[in-house]
Amino acid sequence: MEIVREPAEMRRIVELARARGKTVGLVPTMGFFHRGHLELMRRAVAECDEVVVTLFVNPTQFAPGDDLADYPRDFDRDRRLAESEGVSYLFAPGPGEIYPRGFATSVEVEGLSSVMCGAGRPGHFQGVATVVAKLFNIVPAQAAYFGQKDAQQLAVIGAMARDLNFPVVIKAVPTMREDDGLAMSSRNVYLEPEEREAATALFHSLTAARELICSGERDASVIREAIGEVISAEPLVSLEYVSICGNIYLEPLSELSGEVLIALAARVGKARLIDNMVFELG
Ligand code: AMP
Repeated sequence: MEIVREPAEMRRIVELARARGKTVGLVPTMGFFHRGHLELMRRAVAECDEVVVTLFVNPTQFAPGDDLADYPRDFDRDRRLAESEGVSYLFAPGPGEIYPRGFATSVEVEGLSSVMCGAGRPGHFQGVATVVAKLFNIVPAQAAYFGQKDAQQLAVIGAMARDLNFPVVIKAVPTMREDDGLAMSSRNVYLEPEEREAATALFHSLTAARELICSGERDASVIREAIGEVISAEPLVSLEYVSICGNIYLEPLSELSGEVLIALAARVGKARLIDNMVFELG
């Protein structure tokens, strides 16, 4: 596996691979790999001839006061893990390579960026959309792999790719979970042991929603209430929002039908955690 730091070099490598008839897959990450990241890499390695994993803790998607300075990092471990998954290139630029002096352009996916996580984190999805647009240009891959765990991010990037005609197929990879259901996240390292246990309430609340839906419930307010009950029984977890909406356009639903996303965010100690489930209903 080759480590690449320079955008121009990265692009040359991918253009050359494509000129030789290879398919290229892109896996954007902020590093500190867990099984969720590795699953994305595995899918990409299985489906593409060459895989580029990008490792960049993108400053513009963090607000002042967010955890940018504390965000966990371990380059050597990440390098070893990516290599052992069969990744061809690890693109790990510095902030100056991505945001050189005078950088002034941004991509805003209106609407989708201001609801749910966007309401509590203004500017976050603009930072995400802008850096992913840049990565699509630096790594002109045929397919890009994103985790279902970040459902709103998937919706925003899907919209951006459609709206701006990026010639890349967006692939969604299912959420990888710990044995007790907690969605894997680099931010789980922030949790104290008691908080780690309490954090399973997010998954349990979604499981309660799933049970209601399986038993025929379609009223969003009933499902929202059930989620709230599970979360509020856990004093260490403070719910930020629950959204019951369409999975593509994130429009709120009062009655569940079609492809439904149930997503939530909560604070547990120092960590802000998110989780979701998607339901295909008639
Ligand atoms: P991050 O490094 O947290 O920005 O995540 C990089 C990619 O990994 C994103 O596409 C995430 O959605 C995805 N990802 C993060 N956690 C998980 C998980 N538990 N299961 C599947 N994908 C994940």
